[in-house]
Amino acid sequence: MKVTVFGIGYVGLVQAAVLAEVGHDVLCVDVDEHKVENLKNGNIPIYEPGLTPLVKQNYESGRLQFTTDAKAGVSHGIMQFIAVGTPPDEDGSADLKYVTAVARTIAQYMDDHKVVLDKSTVPVGTADKVRAVMQETLQARGSKLTFDVVSNPEFLKEGAAVADCMRPERIVVGTDNDDVVELLRELYEPFNRNHDRMILMDIRSAELTKYAANCMLATKISFMNEISNLAELLGADIEKVRQGIGSDPRIGYHFIYPGCGYGGSCFPKDVQALIRTAEHIGYQPKLLQAVEDVNYQQKDKLPQFIKRHFGENLAGKTFALWGLSFKPNTDDMREASSRVLMETLWQAGAQVQAFDPEAMDETQRIYGHRADLKLMGTKEAALQGADALVICTEWQNFRAPDFDTIKSALKQPVIFDGRNLYDPERLATRGITYYAIGRGASL
Ligand code: NAD
Repeated sequence: MKVTVFGIGYVGLVQAAVLAEVGHDVLCVDVDEHKVENLKNGNIPIYEPGLTPLVKQNYESGRLQFTTDAKAGVSHGIMQFIAVGTPPDEDGSADLKYVTAVARTIAQYMDDHKVVLDKSTVPVGTADKVRAVMQETLQARGSKLTFDVVSNPEFLKEGAAVADCMRPERIVVGTDNDDVVELLRELYEPFNRNHDRMILMDIRSAELTKYAANCMLATKISFMNEISNLAELLGADIEKVRQGIGSDPRIGYHFIYPGCGYGGSCFPKDVQALIRTAEHIGYQPKLLQAVEDVNYQQKDKLPQFIKRHFGENLAGKTFALWGLSFKPNTDDMREASSRVLMETLWQAGAQVQAFDPEAMDETQRIYGHRADLKLMGTKEAALQGADALVICTEWQNFRAPDFDTIKSALKQPVIFDGRNLYDPERLATRGITYYAIGRGASL
């Protein structure tokens, strides 16, 4: 099947590569010329496990192509995916300007029936807006061409995006036209063989499903962070509590890890966007607001520990930082806790020596101009001469470090751990002062 994907970001590129892998003929369109050129030259703009070979092989086979030519993109596929960004507007609601720009482009160049699939995360009612923009554009052309707008939200997780798209837990399809369902069944047939993963619903429910999923996950994290703050004050250990509650199958072990706050391109913006959606219709979403507030506060947890230990003025201090990406297995630093940490440390006069297995280029792009940041080649190099170690991301190779190396490299044997990677008692016996999240029993 011929498919066009607008937007070659984390979602668009992975989805396009996976569709090409199973045999579809995919043309990707992006307005970023540099990105398109890079992809044509085999340079994959993001880090995602398994993505590079998938893109290269399918590009070489001709099933996956890249262009900035929107007209060519529109004429290529009957299926037109919109996978562009929906960043927060000034008031936190989702900015739909990229989505509506693509809708306008499709309507401007289409010369036969198109099925427009919205993969971007968009507020309830966006399909109506897309439809209105397209109708208006077609009318201006004097055209009577027809089209369908389908909500097909994406549930991939950065860091496991290829696997998630290859074996999706669910394929949510929101449509008001049964004829489209058959086309979508054909498109997704290769991913749907083991059992039917397609969940059909009306468009508004599909749009809300995506927000509900992300807000539920963000709620679990903020809930655990709230309990971790109580544990700290009450002299309990959140890690024991986590295991105690996770053993209840109604709660489960997934997504109940306390930490220094959630980040990324989805949870923060989607929680905010759903709050704004609710407010626009006159509903006060108290729980969602609390999820957001707890997360905001939680990102200040490590800076608070650091200032409690070293004092408010950190001039002359250097901190080794392990982990810059918002979570492991990605280079994405959007809304990462590491950014709040570094910016607070810099404001207090400190220097940072940072290491991340994949996010060094991204850090260089964002903060490369700063004299108070040194990007180090290894996690050991980041420690040299630093006053303390701070951990923001739970990359696998931070889990079992050589604590003697840490101790001898640091000026003071102190670790501030935002991801609870180590056993407080073991560190205490090695003479390392250890601050972690919600571990009141050891603080
Ligand atoms: P991204 O910022 O990585 O990529 C968006 C791409 O769209 C960019 O390459 C940009 O140049 C391109 N673009 C902008 N305007 C365009 C236009 N008019 N025509 C063609 N291309 C255009 O974004 P992302 O992380 O892939 O997210 C895309 C959407 O998917 C968002 O709504 C996001 O909320 C949602 N989503 C993201 C994830 C995730 O983990 N990143 C998961 C599920 C859903």
